[in-house]
Amino acid sequence: MIRVLTGATLIDGTGAAPVPDAAVVMDRDRITAAGPRAALSWPSDAELVDARGRTVIPGLIDAHDHLASHGYGLATRWGLDEPASTAHLRTARVLAETLAMGYTTVRDAGGLDAGFKLAVDQGLIPGPRLVLAVQIISPTGGIGDRVSPSGHECCGAYDPLLPESVANGPDAVRDVVRTMVRAGADVIKTATTGGASSRAGHGPLDAAFTLGEMEALVAESHALGRRVMCHALGGPGLRTALEAGVDSIEHGCYLDEDPTLLGQMAVQGTFFVPTLTVYVYHRESPAPHVRERALALYPHHVASVRRALELGVPIAAGTDAGGHGHPRNALELKYLRAGLQGRRDLRGPARTLMTRAR
Ligand SMILES: [Zn+2]
Repeated sequence: MIRVLTGATLIDGTGAAPVPDAAVVMDRDRITAAGPRAALSWPSDAELVDARGRTVIPGLIDAHDHLASHGYGLATRWGLDEPASTAHLRTARVLAETLAMGYTTVRDAGGLDAGFKLAVDQGLIPGPRLVLAVQIISPTGGIGDRVSPSGHECCGAYDPLLPESVANGPDAVRDVVRTMVRAGADVIKTATTGGASSRAGHGPLDAAFTLGEMEALVAESHALGRRVMCHALGGPGLRTALEAGVDSIEHGCYLDEDPTLLGQMAVQGTFFVPTLTVYVYHRESPAPHVRERALALYPHHVASVRRALELGVPIAAGTDAGGHGHPRNALELKYLRAGLQGRRDLRGPARTLMTRAR
């Protein structure tokens, strides 16, 4: 069965100019041709879909998401406020909604277990193509180390699909990388700094992991055919990540502070995955230290993106969705555009769009 979308404006994703009055020819689930309508042909019995007044684009990619996360609250993060089955069904809803928004590939930066990927592959639930990190590898006190503000390490039942991800010392780090791969990791996620929402005392400029530990992590990941995505906002931990040869810097808010860092990324071909959406959200966090961090880093984050573009650093958009809900992921593109245009009118709309999947 041939179907043809006609009359829409086509952005084909190659960087070419938009094509007005385009046609997209589909044979079942495959696009067989796309371009100016006048230049294409199709069988006379094809089903025509009038798409005038609309724009057609390729499937979008969210390079940094947490599909199985549903809030920053401690009880939610530790899986205490609803049955695990309910949370899993909530995650399945998020997968379906994310696909329906046009996101056909999502790289999950931690928290989604391999069973969801299996379920999508088997057609049990609709969802985007998934690239999984499984869990965030960090040392004791890093962002992968779950401790409450009162110092407690509880809770949550043992789940073999989400293995323990805290490791100290090169040998232990190698072991955890292997464990993640065994649990289904397609990519290895680690963190060499704190973040906006991490515990007080471990913020965006505070380091985690030594160079030796990170070199072991990168070597083991690459030996197993996995790329390394590294949460790194700024300070010495950001440099450690780049020196160890990670494949992407996640967040990278303070890359602008040291002019050599982005140059090194351009040379090494290291991807930069900015996540503006999450920091717009954190500006209204109930925790003062989170608000302060989010406000302080934002101008740097935008400046880092601008400089990265100038230097030819490859950039991929991420949202860090999950803790802040599951927004319209394409908000990230809007924030990137606004930031590059120097607009500051970003307060307000984000929170209302970020709702918990019902
Ligand atoms: Zn994240």
